[in-house]
Amino acid sequence: MRLPEVLIFLASWGVARAAPGKFWHISDLHLDPDYKVSEDPLQVCPSAGSQPVPNAGPWGNYLCDSPWILINSSIYAMKEIEPEPDFILWTGDDTPHVPNERLSEVAVLQIVKQLTQLIREAFPGAFYSEKLPGLSRAGRIVVLNTNLYYSSNEQTASMADPSQQFQWLDEVLTKASQAGEMVYIIGHVPPGFFEKTRNKAWFREGFNEEYLKVVQRHHRIIAGQFFGHHHTDSFRMFYDGAGAPISVMFLTPGVTPWKTTLPGVVNGANNPGIRVFEYDRATLSLQDMVTYFLNLSQANALGAPRWELEYRVTEAYGVPDAGARSMHAALGRIASDQGALQRYYVYNSVSYDTRACDEACRAEHVCALREVAFDRYAACLRGPGVAPAPCLALLPAALLGVRALLVS
Ligand SMILES: [Zn+2]
Repeated sequence: MRLPEVLIFLASWGVARAAPGKFWHISDLHLDPDYKVSEDPLQVCPSAGSQPVPNAGPWGNYLCDSPWILINSSIYAMKEIEPEPDFILWTGDDTPHVPNERLSEVAVLQIVKQLTQLIREAFPGAFYSEKLPGLSRAGRIVVLNTNLYYSSNEQTASMADPSQQFQWLDEVLTKASQAGEMVYIIGHVPPGFFEKTRNKAWFREGFNEEYLKVVQRHHRIIAGQFFGHHHTDSFRMFYDGAGAPISVMFLTPGVTPWKTTLPGVVNGANNPGIRVFEYDRATLSLQDMVTYFLNLSQANALGAPRWELEYRVTEAYGVPDAGARSMHAALGRIASDQGALQRYYVYNSVSYDTRACDEACRAEHVCALREVAFDRYAACLRGPGVAPAPCLALLPAALLGVRALLVS
C-alpha cells in the first residue's frame, strides 16, 4: 500500500443544535483517474497492476481503485442520507495504488484538489483544515500523522519520537483534560494488527507501545479513535492494566473496492462503504455507528448505484451504544458466538466476502480486535485467548441470518 497522503478534516460544528449530533467518517477514496470501461482487460485501470480486469463495469471493479463516478456517487449518497452532519472526518489515502514513479507530485495534488472540491461542492458551509483547534467547549479533534510510525517509513525508523509528535500529543491531551474537554483522535495508518492476515502490523513495535501508553494515560478524555488504511470494517479495543475496556478505535471501510495485493490475504476486496456516527454533542460519547454500502457488482449489473444501509452497530451486536464497554461486549459475542462472528466477518469486507469464517479466521480477527500490543497479540494467537466456537452446526443458520439482514 502506498504511503498515505495528508490527513484531511472538514467541519462545521453545530454547537447550537440539540443532541444527538451526527458526523461522517470516510476513508481511502483512492481515485484512479485513468479507470475506463475497456474491452481490453489490460487497459482498464493502472491500479490493477499487471492483472487482467475482465468485465469492467462503469461503477468500478474489485481489482481497481475508484473511478471518479464511484467517488462522486459516494459523496452524493452521503448528502442524501445525512445532508447536515456536524462535521466530516476524512482520513486520507486519495491516490491510486500504482508505483510511486507513475505518480508525480502534481498528479497527487491534483487528485487531492479534485476530491476536496467535490466534498466542498456537496457540503458547502463546511470549512477545511488539516489541524483543527477546539471545535466547541466540550470537544477537540486531534489529527495525527501516523505515517511517522509506519514500518515502511525508513526515515523515522531509528527515532524515539519522530517530529516529537508523542510529546505534542501528550501535551495536547493534558491541556484538554485540564480544560475539561473530550477528544476524538483521528489518523490514517492505525496501530495494532491487520485482521485479515497473521502478524501484519503497520506501526513499528516501539511506536505501537508508545501509542498504547498515551491511550492508557489519557483514556478518560478520549471519546473515540477513528482510523482507516485497512479498507476493511473493523475495530480495536484498548484495556487498562486490570483488563477493563477503556477505549475503542473504529476502522472505517474504504470507498475504493481495490483488492489488496498484500501477501497472505485471500480475496481482500470490499464493497465501497461510507459511515455516519451518532454522538452526544455535550460529551462526545458515541451512541451509534451506521454503515452504508454500494453493492458494486449489482450497481454494474443494474447500471445504477444504490447506496443501502448495511448495518447499525447497536442492532448488529445487541449493545446500547458504540462506547468502549459496549464494543467490548460486542467483541465478546463475536469471539464466542458463531452467528455474531459470521455477521462481523461479512461486514468486515462490506458484504463482499460471504464465506464462512473458520477457526483460523476467527483467531486472526478476534486477536487483532482484542490485542493492539505486539506481545499480547502473539500470546492471543498461541493460547486460549480466543474462546471456543460453540458449534459449527449453527453456521448455516447464522449465514441465513446475515442474508436476511442484508436484504432487509
Ligand atoms: Zn488506502
